Amino acid sequence: MFKINDNYLKLPGSYLFSTIAKKVNAFQEANPDKELIRLGIGDVTQPLAPAIIEALHGAVDEMASAETFHGYAPDLGYEFLRNAIVEGDYRSRGAKIQADEIFVSDGAKCDSGNIQEIFAKDNKIAVCDPVYPVYVDTNVMAGRTGTYDPKSETWSDVIYMPCTAENNFAPEFPEEVPDIIYLCFPNNPTGSTITKDQLQGWVDYANKNGAVIIYDAAYEAYISEDDVAHTIYECEGARTCAIELKSFSKNAGFTGVRLGYAVVPKDLKCGDVKLHDLWARRHGTKYNGAPYIVQKAGAAVYTEQGKAQLKEQVGYYMNNAKVIFEGLKEAGYTVSGGVNAPYIWLKTPEGMSSWDFFDHLLEQANVVGTPGSGFGPSGEGYFRLTAFGNYENTVKAIERIKNI
Ligand code: PLP
Repeated sequence: MFKINDNYLKLPGSYLFSTIAKKVNAFQEANPDKELIRLGIGDVTQPLAPAIIEALHGAVDEMASAETFHGYAPDLGYEFLRNAIVEGDYRSRGAKIQADEIFVSDGAKCDSGNIQEIFAKDNKIAVCDPVYPVYVDTNVMAGRTGTYDPKSETWSDVIYMPCTAENNFAPEFPEEVPDIIYLCFPNNPTGSTITKDQLQGWVDYANKNGAVIIYDAAYEAYISEDDVAHTIYECEGARTCAIELKSFSKNAGFTGVRLGYAVVPKDLKCGDVKLHDLWARRHGTKYNGAPYIVQKAGAAVYTEQGKAQLKEQVGYYMNNAKVIFEGLKEAGYTVSGGVNAPYIWLKTPEGMSSWDFFDHLLEQANVVGTPGSGFGPSGEGYFRLTAFGNYENTVKAIERIKNI
């Protein structure tokens, strides 16, 4: 009889978005006349920018004739895209990354989930708490996290780094030294970030302790402050300790188009073994490349036209963030985030849990958000609203919250 990977059975089930959906459906059924505004899920709402649409159309037309048709893409991605990425995201920031250190993929979710495969099972991971759940769950599937304690909602072999108002939502170096450190800045869900100096501290810590940093920079496009690094490779020594993951989802609206990339520098080694070679082997074996059409659309992100249009799009969402941030503050809430990220993280009123506040907002303002406790135990007492809605609904939602 075959056996399953029973690590999957250890997963406590992702109740967050299904519980939200259930509660929202029940409310809507009981109150069919009420118009709900959804500021919960982190999906974008604006259409693809014209420069991207034009590139997509052009690439589709190329596929219609034998001379310009494209089949399987090269393992690491098309050179035109990898060169554009290096120029636009790294060289322009003084970061020394080469095109053959870029691995084009279909998004940061897959990369952040798959990357753990190239590490031994007995590595100890450290994550921020609250956290994007993919980092922990994929390590659970690999059998790296020990046992789950439903009471504390934590795994025995995971190092949690609480990020709360007390430490300004910035993780502190853990007492026990981890092997693999997941960092995501600007952060989902807290919407906060750390300075370049703080990030340099993590790079130094990792190099000193022989740890590797998996740096998720999916929200890099939302950085507005000067002292925040746009890539971890702005930090000295990052080439020997960090893998960076990027996504085209939030900067360019590719959530449905799908494109991302991982950077694995050739200087990142375990003894004599380059992680670059392991990831190249894994990529070539298990992945057949993002579509040519999509990679062409990705290259349009780096054109002058594309950059200008996307700056406007990011600005649109960040204007929503400002509306939410200032509106909530005016209404007396303690709020953070929203300056370098499209997420606003608010403290729930005294005596209300994250889920209490979810119900309160749904019933009193007909606004849907995300309970902070769904992202980890240190998210309890917090609540996430996203700036990815349209402007009119965002304004309406905040007016309703103010009027509760
Ligand atoms: N990383 C973080 C921190 C995210 O919040 C998300 C999506 O919400 C992703 C990665 C997923 O990115 P992608 O759409 O490229 O898979």
